[in-house]
Amino acid sequence: MAYYEDLAEVYMGDDVSPDFYAWVFPKCDHVAVGTDLGGGEIIRVEAHPIPEHPRPRRLSGRVALVGDAAGYVTKCSGEGIYFAAKSGRMCAEAIVEGSENGKRMVEERDLRKYLEKWDKTYWPTYKVLDILQKVFYRSNPAKEAFVEMCADDYVQKMTFDSYLYKRVVPGSPLEDLKLAVNTIGSLVRANALRREMDKINV
Ligand SMILES: Cc1cc2nc3c(=O)[nH]c(=O)nc-3n(C[C@H](O)[C@H](O)[C@H](O)COP(=O)(O)OP(=O)(O)OC[C@H]3O[C@@H](n4cnc5c(N)ncnc54)[C@H](O)[C@@H]3O)c2cc1C
Repeated sequence: MAYYEDLAEVYMGDDVSPDFYAWVFPKCDHVAVGTDLGGGEIIRVEAHPIPEHPRPRRLSGRVALVGDAAGYVTKCSGEGIYFAAKSGRMCAEAIVEGSENGKRMVEERDLRKYLEKWDKTYWPTYKVLDILQKVFYRSNPAKEAFVEMCADDYVQKMTFDSYLYKRVVPGSPLEDLKLAVNTIGSLVRANALRREMDKINV
């Protein structure tokens, strides 16, 4: 525990986690470990697949899905708490509005308004994160390129703002262009590294 007092670790590599990351986070008087840890006392083991694929059907009659049930965890970051709460609220607001404050029973078309609002607000964010995950989580070298990219101040600012505002925020076109060039550079370097590693392994 003393080792992790001021330290959180994230590890990206398919030897531990094929499509995401492994982590060790300090939590008050213990550490939460998202991988195997040699030694240490295991207090509790938990496992749950993270539903990061929006369900093809989120509405049927007077039933609408929200949160994890709707598959609202974002790709790339695995963030689901905010989106679960927000979708619950949006759905509740559609019910209040559709029922005219409880004066009539809601129908599918009333609940559909929640889905329309949700998709309009968040679809671009889900799409961008989906593309990022497809590009950067597909192999270990691509993950290396991702880590390299995250050292950039502009990337850190964009990431921070996107977490804060829960949307992919528009950046500066010039910085975006520089970022695109650097990203391609990182991916090319990472692929060259993979080829070298493949040769060594052969
Ligand atoms: C390992 C892991 C790490 C994560 N890390 C993060 C993170 O750092 N940040 C983040 O934002 N998100 C994170 N998430 C995702 C986040 O936890 C979920 O997206 C969020 O909790 C979903 O909320 P929810 O209300 O939709 O579902 P849940 O939190 O799953 O709530 C559903 C509730 O319904 C109850 N329930 C189920 N069946 C029934 C039934 N038949 N009758 C009554 N009750 C029932 C369940 O017990 C549960 O309490 C993580 C998820 C995992 C698994």
